[in-house]
Order: sequence, then C-alpha cells, then structure tokens
Amino acid sequence: SLVLGIETSCDETGIGIVRGNELLANVIASSMDEHARYGGVVPEIAARAHLEALTPAIREALATAGVALDELDAIAVTSGPGLAGALMVGVGAAKALAVSLGKPLYAVNHLVGHVGADVLRHDPLVGEGALELPTIALLVSGGHTSLLLVRDLVSDVELLGETIDDAAGEAFDKVARLLGLPYPGGPEIDRAAATGDPAAYRFPRGLTAPKDLVRHRFDFSFSGLKTAVARTVEASRDAGIEPPVADVAASFREAVVDVLVTKALDACRELGVPRLLLGGGVIANRRLREVAAERCAAAGVTLRIPPLSLCTDNGAMIAALAAQLIAAGHAPSGLGFGADSTLPVTTIQA
Ligand code: ATP
Ligand code: MG
Ligand code: FE
Repeated sequence: SLVLGIETSCDETGIGIVRGNELLANVIASSMDEHARYGGVVPEIAARAHLEALTPAIREALATAGVALDELDAIAVTSGPGLAGALMVGVGAAKALAVSLGKPLYAVNHLVGHVGADVLRHDPLVGEGALELPTIALLVSGGHTSLLLVRDLVSDVELLGETIDDAAGEAFDKVARLLGLPYPGGPEIDRAAATGDPAAYRFPRGLTAPKDLVRHRFDFSFSGLKTAVARTVEASRDAGIEPPVADVAASFREAVVDVLVTKALDACRELGVPRLLLGGGVIANRRLREVAAERCAAAGVTLRIPPLSLCTDNGAMIAALAAQLIAAGHAPSGLGFGADSTLPVTTIQA
C-alpha cells in the first residue's frame, strides 16, 4: 500500500512515502543547526521548527514520489517515544491530514520504526537480501541507546536493555563540549579520534551506575564514562597542559564502541540469535561500524546496517512500518491516541 509517514520525535522533520517496501521519497529537514549554540536539542525550538518545516516537506515528498494526496492509502505518524512538544506537532498534522482526506491513520512506535527502515529495498552498507527475523537490534542516537529482540516487526518486539542515563549520542555531544568541539559532537569526535591513540587512556566500560538502577539484563550507562573523561580533561588543565584532544577522543570513542558492540553480541549469544541490525545516528561512527563488522564476523553473526539516510530519524521508516502493519491486517489507530513521550517499545502501534 501507498503510505505517507510523518516523523517529528526529535529535531528531524521527516516525511517519507513508500509503496509496500519500495522507497518513493524520504525528505528530511533538520533543525540541528538551531540547537548548536545550546549544545543539545532544545524541545521548544524543535517543535517550532517542525511546524515550519512540515508543509513544505510534505509537498516536496509528494512531488519527489510523483504522488497526489488523494492517491495515498494511509497516513502514518510517530506517536512516541520522543520529545512531547515535537511529537504533538506531527500527531496533530497527521490527524488533520487523515481526517481531511478521509484516509486511515496509523500511529507507530519510533524505535520499532528504526527497525522497520530495514524492510525498505536498499543496498545496506553491510548485509544483503531481506531482513531476517528474529534479530537483535541496537539503536543508538542522541536520544536513545536501546537493545531490542525483534521476533516479529508488527507483533513481537522485546526491550533487552536501554540507557539508564545518557544516550550514546548524547555522551558524544557532552564529551565534545568538554573538549571544546562544536555540536553535534559525534562527527567531531570521530574526526579528532582518527589521529589519536585509543589506548592512551583506559576509560571505564559498561555499567558503572549502582546495580539497583539496572532494570534490564542489557542496560547501558554512559554518565560514568563522561565523568571519567571530564576528570582527565580537568586534571590536565589543572597541570597547565591542554588535554591531548585526539587521544582523549580516540580513547572515549573506543570505550563507547566497545560497550555497545560487546553488549549487542552478548545478547546475540545468550539468546541464540545470530543476527544484528544497527540503527540511529551514531551508526555514522566509523569505528563503531568497523568494530561491529570485525566482531560479528568472528562470532558468526550476520550484521546489517541500512544506509545512513534510513538510520537517522526519517519519515520513510515510519511509513514502512505502517505498510507492514497494513499488510498484516492491522486496523488503523483511529483518532483517540495522543503523543506519548515514553511509549514503550512493546507498543508497536498506538
Ligand atoms: P532520536 O534519539 O530521536 O533518534 P536524535 O536526533 O537525537 O534522535 P539522530 O539524529 O539519529 O538522533 O543522531 C544524532 C546523534 O548522533 C547526535 O548525538 C550525534 O552526535 C550523533 N552522531 C552523529 N554522527 C556521529 C558519529 N560519527 N559518531 C558518533 N556519534 C555521531
Ligand atoms: Mg536528530
Ligand atoms: Fe530515532
């Protein structure tokens, strides 16, 4: 079916159009630049930017796909999780569009959408053919660090672990700031790390928070790592020496990548699932892709990484997930749902 998907959970206004698992349009307008001077996404700014970007993005997506509004079979929208005010803009627009066109509306989970992106026909950076299930999925972005067990995309997704404090991308952004690098910090750290020694500092791995905070077997924590980097940087400055940015960046990146890949592969092994799918903006990290590829090969785990335009937040993944729901015979969501900033991953459709 022909579906238009609306994504506004964070700072990307994403409008995607798919026909089944065929990608017709994927328009993304990001308000990233407007958040730069604050060092992170400011919810009110993101919401206002969505309001301004939505209509032109919808027009552009329809033009790119060569589709008229009345030809659509359904509208899909992210209803959570994400920033409440940002989500509300997309949900309001989707309801208005669905009602005015008389089309069914599907409200879907953002995180499951990240997995759904992989059903779109594409050449993954790594992997080939159709998505095989069950799979472990590692989603790493500025807002999320989640490890999922996906048995069935439309009916059975389990949360194996998530961050109990900072998301991995957030940790990159905060450490970049400590080092005096601009926002977003991920690409900056990646660049600085290229000439650094990853063994210069031994930063903490894994969960450093008290055990009673841990809710899932594979929960993550990055605040201890961030504090360790802060101490290193301060100690250096106290001694009157500018911290060696490349070495700190490389050592920090190594610690994050090590934790992410180790936990994901532990999950693959313990649950007997020899497949790993990566998603989210942090997947742009070169070292993460490299280490994941090496260790998956060694562990006999099939690795899939969709192209980056489908890994970062986008509307195509939302449309793709809705198309799967429709194909599986799921009824539309109606108009009774609202934006839910903490929508659990087990609620695939609201
Ligand atoms: P959400 O959490 O809702 O998915 P988001 O906007 O926070 O949304 P993305 O846009 O998917 O997340 O990703 C942005 C994050 O990815 C930022 O924190 C950024 O620093 C990080 N990032 C981007 N490129 C890299 C990189 N090369 N290495 C590490 N982190 C990166
Ligand atoms: Mg973003
Ligand atoms: Fe996301």
